[in-house]
Amino acid sequence: MGMLDSLIYENIVTYTSEALLVASPVCNTGMQILDFSPIYMNQAYEIMTNKRVEIDSLFSKSMVHVSASVPWIQMGQEAFETGKHIEHSFFSQVLNSWFFVSLVKLPQDFLLVTLHDISKDKEHEQQLRRQNLRLAALSEELVLSRQNLRNKLDKIENLNIRLEHLAFHDPLTGLPNRSRFNEIIELSIQKSKKEHGILGLMLIDIDNLKDVNDSRGHSAGDELLCRVSKQLKNFVRETIQVFRFGGDEFLVLATELETKDSMVTISDAIMESVNSVNVSISAGISLFPDDTDSIEELLKFADMAMYDVKKKGKNNVFFFMHLMQDKLLKRLNLETKLNEAMLNGSFKLYYQPQVDITTNKLRGFEALLRWYDDEIGWISPEQFIPLAEESRLVIPLGDWVMDTACATLRNWKDTYNFEGIMSINVSPIQLKKPSFIYDLDETIKKYSLDPRKIEIEVTEGVLIENMEETVRLLQDVKNLGVGISLDDFGTGYSSLSYLQILPLTTLKIDKSFIANITSKNSVEAEITDSIISLVTKMGLDTIAEGVENAEQLGVLQQINCRNTQGFLMGKPMPVDICEKMLSGDESAILRIENGQDPIRYSI
Ligand code: C2E
Ligand code: MG
Ligand code: MG
Repeated sequence: MGMLDSLIYENIVTYTSEALLVASPVCNTGMQILDFSPIYMNQAYEIMTNKRVEIDSLFSKSMVHVSASVPWIQMGQEAFETGKHIEHSFFSQVLNSWFFVSLVKLPQDFLLVTLHDISKDKEHEQQLRRQNLRLAALSEELVLSRQNLRNKLDKIENLNIRLEHLAFHDPLTGLPNRSRFNEIIELSIQKSKKEHGILGLMLIDIDNLKDVNDSRGHSAGDELLCRVSKQLKNFVRETIQVFRFGGDEFLVLATELETKDSMVTISDAIMESVNSVNVSISAGISLFPDDTDSIEELLKFADMAMYDVKKKGKNNVFFFMHLMQDKLLKRLNLETKLNEAMLNGSFKLYYQPQVDITTNKLRGFEALLRWYDDEIGWISPEQFIPLAEESRLVIPLGDWVMDTACATLRNWKDTYNFEGIMSINVSPIQLKKPSFIYDLDETIKKYSLDPRKIEIEVTEGVLIENMEETVRLLQDVKNLGVGISLDDFGTGYSSLSYLQILPLTTLKIDKSFIANITSKNSVEAEITDSIISLVTKMGLDTIAEGVENAEQLGVLQQINCRNTQGFLMGKPMPVDICEKMLSGDESAILRIENGQDPIRYSI
């Protein structure tokens, strides 16, 4: 180092990219530093400060041209006092840059000022800070939206739980209902089979509830029902379950019985307990496996025994006995009749209008099966469809319904220029016949129909076995362009999750919901509202079933239900009355408006 001569040092100082300035202190007589006077600056310094600092001037005069806010003189004094580097960052308005400055005392009482332009670093720093802020905001947003989603999911979950509770419990007594029974009996039978236990089913019917309702009003009837259910609840334990089966009927299911006599003990105790609160009941009992091993027959047999009690003076309990079987044979007769009816074509289709309440226009019709037997009279599809399903007769019957409804649709289009939809009920058994899709497609082609004008109605029952296959099947139906409506939503197995699994186009809210939507603080109204807004968002059409009065219609309009079907809009009608309506015949429309019943069941 010592080898280099001073010229070289001078060159280094002159040409370095570091901005350097040397100043000497200006003192008063007491040797106190008052100011500094620049005596040298290199090229870099001149360029960086835009030649705003002059040699031989004073800091107090010239350094303010770099920045007026930096305490130049104090910093210089401090550097002299401490002998350390005094550093500072500042923004120069004049030069529009950020600087880092360092002042240090040189050995011969000079002050060295080094200046760095740090604008780039500063910019970077600020960018980072901005980015951090943005990230923070973003993560906050994320937390919020996650919270939001959670809330929404919770709501749906909640809704599901309430829906499930509603589906499986009777609101009046809080007892599990028929749907729950249907679930539980299945499992109980399986268990009984495995463990070789006896299972007893006791069907209880309150005597004369109808008279109480008629003479003292429904609240007296409700009170009576609650009184009975309170007594029955006392018997509930792991092996004894109680259900409200409907109307004035209760079911007691006793499992793991060792002998038939145990059922006698239980039923006697129940009779006594109910009588003790001044209620008279008639009850019938059937046993598994002694009487039958079919669930349906268990119920039938208990029912028959109960009816026998009614006939013989009420307030008693009878066991089903095989003697009764000939009566059953008469009922089974229905199946034979069903067969005959299929053969001689005594089925009819009725059509019930569906109305779009947002436009007050006809959306279409639902085809509903009707059967009249000369001996028995009208037989409700609720009675014969299950029988037809059991015997698989529902397959040819369903084929006939599909063909007839499509033929009608073709005819209405040709004759009345009808553009509406034809909704056709399809039994799960019919849906699962291997040729269903093929046959449906063929029928559509046969009548050259627009598939979008056909809609099949399925119930959640289709999901019971082989969910995946069902979904695939329905997807095939949808691919044809045919609509798929989920019927009776809100009963039985209802779950919102099905709405996501099934490729649906329409949701039909069951009439049991609609029946209760006008009462005060109605749970059904609230749930219907949530469900409708949910499925409407999913792009599904909605239909409320069983709309019977203007009050219900009012509520449905409020909660933005799109379509309604029910006696208020019109009962199911034979084809000729529908045609009068389609041709604009006033009397037919009047009949529809009055909800006049063109048909009554005798059974
Ligand atoms: P669903 O498909 O839910 O049909 C609606 C039922 O509600 C019909 O009973 C209809 O008459 C009745 N209904 C309509 N409006 C009102 C109302 O305002 N108040 C009340 N209380 N009831 C109303 P229906 O005709 O006795 O049919 C019963 C069930 O039988 C149908 O229920 C459907 O599941 C089944 N069904 C009917 N036709 C067929 C068919 O062709 N094939 C199959 N597989 N099932 C059918
Ligand atoms: Mg239906
Ligand atoms: Mg329905």
